[in-house]
Order: sequence, then C-alpha cells, then structure tokens
Amino acid sequence: MKKKIVVFGSFVVDLMGRTPHLPISGETVKGSFFKMGPGGKGFNQCVAAHKTGANVTMITKLGRDSFADVALNTMTELGMPKDGIFFADDTDTGIALILVDQNTSENEIVIVPGACATITKEDTDRTINFIKDAAYVLLQLEVNQDANERIIELANRYGSKVIVNTAPYAPISDEFLSKVYMVTPNEVEAEELTGIPVKNLEGAKKAAEVFHNKGVEKVLITMGSQGVFISADGRQEIVPAFHVDALDTTGAGDAFNGGFLTALSEGYSEWDAARFANATAALSVQKLGTTPSMPTRTEVDAFLADH
Ligand code: ADP
Repeated sequence: MKKKIVVFGSFVVDLMGRTPHLPISGETVKGSFFKMGPGGKGFNQCVAAHKTGANVTMITKLGRDSFADVALNTMTELGMPKDGIFFADDTDTGIALILVDQNTSENEIVIVPGACATITKEDTDRTINFIKDAAYVLLQLEVNQDANERIIELANRYGSKVIVNTAPYAPISDEFLSKVYMVTPNEVEAEELTGIPVKNLEGAKKAAEVFHNKGVEKVLITMGSQGVFISADGRQEIVPAFHVDALDTTGAGDAFNGGFLTALSEGYSEWDAARFANATAALSVQKLGTTPSMPTRTEVDAFLADH
C-alpha cells in the first residue's frame, strides 16, 4: 500500500493585531499586540499531518520575498520536505490580515492569497511524481480552483484518493464533486453546499445523502465540540469530540484534517482515524494560534492513552 500523502493548498503569512476595538471605516486605532506567523489552510493541515507522523509533501506556491521565508524557515525547523514548493516571479506570497478585538475576541480578516492563487498548469504538471506515489491527496478551496481541478485529474489518473476539505466556502460544481473520494466540510460549509441545515445527526445524514448522490463516496462533517459525523460504507454516526477546555478554536478544522490524513495513511478505518483526528484537534484548541498549535505524534498518543 502507498503510504505517502500530499497536501495541495495555500500558504499565507498571518499578520495578527489585537486592538482595544475594531476600527470603523476611516478610523485608525492604536493596537496593543502584533504577531506574525505561518498560516493558510493547506499549510496548517500539512503541518498537522507532518507533526502527527505522516510522510507528507506540501505543494504550494510562494512569492520571491521575505514572507516566503516564513514558510521555508518553518519547514526547515519542522523537517518538512520542500521539493513541492513553487515560486511566482511577479506575485507576492499570500497574507492574512487578522484584527482581533482584545475585549470581545471578535475578529475581522482579510486574506490576499497572492502567489498561491496563481498556480499554473506548468506548476501542477510538476506535481505528477508526488501524486503518483501518494495514497491520498488533500485539498482545500483557498487556491485557484482550476489548479485544484487539474490536481484531481492527476490524482484520479494515478490512483490517489482525493479528499476535499471544502473550506473556505466557495461554490463547487457537481462535476468537481463527482471526481472526489471524500469531502470534509464543517457544519456551516455542509449547509452552504447542500442547502440542508446541519445541527444534529438527522441534518448531517440528509446533507451526506446530497453529497453521495453527487458521487462522493465518503462524507465527514466536522461539528465543533460535538465531534464529527461520518457517512461511509452504509454506516452513519457521530464520533464524539473529546471534552477539553478550548482556548482558541481557530485551526481546529485544519488540525482535524491533518490528523485524519495521517491516520488514514497508516491504514486506520475512517472511524478510528476520526478518533485520532478528534484528539489532534482537541490538543490544538487548547493552544493559541494555528500552525504553532498543532500537536506532535507523541502528544496525540499520550492524549489517546489518557482518554
Ligand atoms: P472548523 O474549525 O473548520 O470550523 P470545527 O469547528 O467543526 O471545524 O472543528 C473541527 C474539529 O475540531 C471537531 O470535529 C472536533 O474534533 C474538534 N473541536 C472543535 N472544537 C472543539 C472543542 N471545543 N472541544 C474539543 N474539540 C473540538
């Protein structure tokens, strides 16, 4: 069995500022705290998979600028392979401007995907060797969608299973879905994509049927502190989340998807992989940030042994 996996998706530098209140149009507010760090759904999910033990290659596109070093330095520190990174000559590395109200934790976010929204056919053609060897390819909806479509074509041609984490929400065609092995929306995305409210098991079952009818073999819907609903092999159940004191749930879905992929690549069933992924996410919500909050395999194994 192929054990390698690929995450194809975004990298952006998170530029986070805390402020006494969120500025209104035209207002300048003096902030109280600033932090810069690696982010982007693709990168976060890849870091989660790598730290939990997967043999994973990140495929993304950066600019030729100092923000690219934020990705490259993180990858060096974590020992991640860099041969799936492409560079744009005339577009900057993506960024996310994140403003957080220090009193209410309300936020405002602007994402400029930059280089990772300019992935060309020439770039995707260069991914063939990674995709050929991969058991699974995990995508999100944060890069240019035509690049995702080409990656899916390649994955299907070479027998790699495609998992799409449908985040952030963007409309996707039935044709696109018909080529996907598994989708992993959260409750909100599941409702946006199917029109069916997903608040409980009944709603999740109905939404899953919509995906199955479009040709998706397996459906996972992450449901925050409730856990994750799975519809696979004729079984439809919720695998409950672990009870923890959540400090910061941003990136919970990314931790879940990365951990889930690690477990699948080791031959776990979806049900066992969901427990592993719930643990990965439960550890991440107890820490601040996205990329830095992803737990190691040792931490996940210890957590599972305790629960
Ligand atoms: P997203 O971050 O994409 O909105 P969810 O909120 O559905 O995704 O969370 C993804 C996963 O993270 C859940 O399926 C669960 O395993 C875990 N999780 C999220 N919030 C909590 C929480 N408060 N306590 C424990 N686990 C959580």
